[in-house]
Amino acid sequence: MLKNRTAVVTGGSRGIGRAIALELACHGANVAIVYAGQAEAAAQVAREVEALGSKAWTYQCDVSDWTQTQSTCEQIIVDCGTVDILVNNAGIVKDNLMLRMSEEDFDQVMDVNLKGSFAMTRHLTRTLLSSPHARIINISSVVALMGNPGQANYTAAKAGLIGFTKSIAREYASRGVTCNVIAPGFITTDMTAKLPQAAMDKLLGLVPLKRVGEPKDIAHAVLFLASDMGRYITGQVLQVDGGMRI
Ligand code: NDP
Repeated sequence: MLKNRTAVVTGGSRGIGRAIALELACHGANVAIVYAGQAEAAAQVAREVEALGSKAWTYQCDVSDWTQTQSTCEQIIVDCGTVDILVNNAGIVKDNLMLRMSEEDFDQVMDVNLKGSFAMTRHLTRTLLSSPHARIINISSVVALMGNPGQANYTAAKAGLIGFTKSIAREYASRGVTCNVIAPGFITTDMTAKLPQAAMDKLLGLVPLKRVGEPKDIAHAVLFLASDMGRYITGQVLQVDGGMRI
């Protein structure tokens, strides 16, 4: 399905990004994995991608750093030749109630979740525009559409990603490039592992499908949008949240 196509997955070392890297590789894509610090986790995903018969590369790069993203993207193009699929998945949370939220925590969350996606898209634009199957898929969150107490920084960044996506979708449409957002609900990863059981139970009560999501649930949606099945969809927000926000 994705034979001879190359995907860049930011935050591909763990959680949702790892599942996306493996799902795309499972369907034939070669994968460049961008990660922040967990080199061994990234190397393990690369080995799993290779075991599926695809090529894999790993890059340590802080997506919030403009210079690092520029040199990393240049290296990705050297190593991979072209890039057909960009999945902007790297993200962090720094939750706090508004009265206690520091400027630093606001800026960091904006810089990784929103500016990081801008930087990767900007630096890979030329190569994406030269691909006949180019796809950009940004990972937002259902809370961008609902709001969430304690997450003013995160929801602002993830909502910004939706506006960013819609503009890029319009800007690149004439070149056949699609750009969409996936808005996951509550998914079991390291990011959500620290939540106390009471908070988990409360969240689960908001999910009509009565289960938390798995990283694979998001990876399946990415595969759909990245493949030819998704070729006529652009500028959309696809909620994958068990019905959390209907
Ligand atoms: P995890 O915390 O499990 O993994 C985060 C990934 O992002 C890791 O691969 C990490 O790399 C990477 N990363 C973090 N900061 C940076 C950075 N500055 N530069 C490059 N890479 C970075 O997160 P999830 O898998 O849970 O989340 C993935 C995405 O999905 C995020 O954008 C998140 O906001 C979004 N999301 C998650 C939901 C959930 O319930 N889990 C719900 C809705 C949205 P390393 O391993 O090296 O640290």
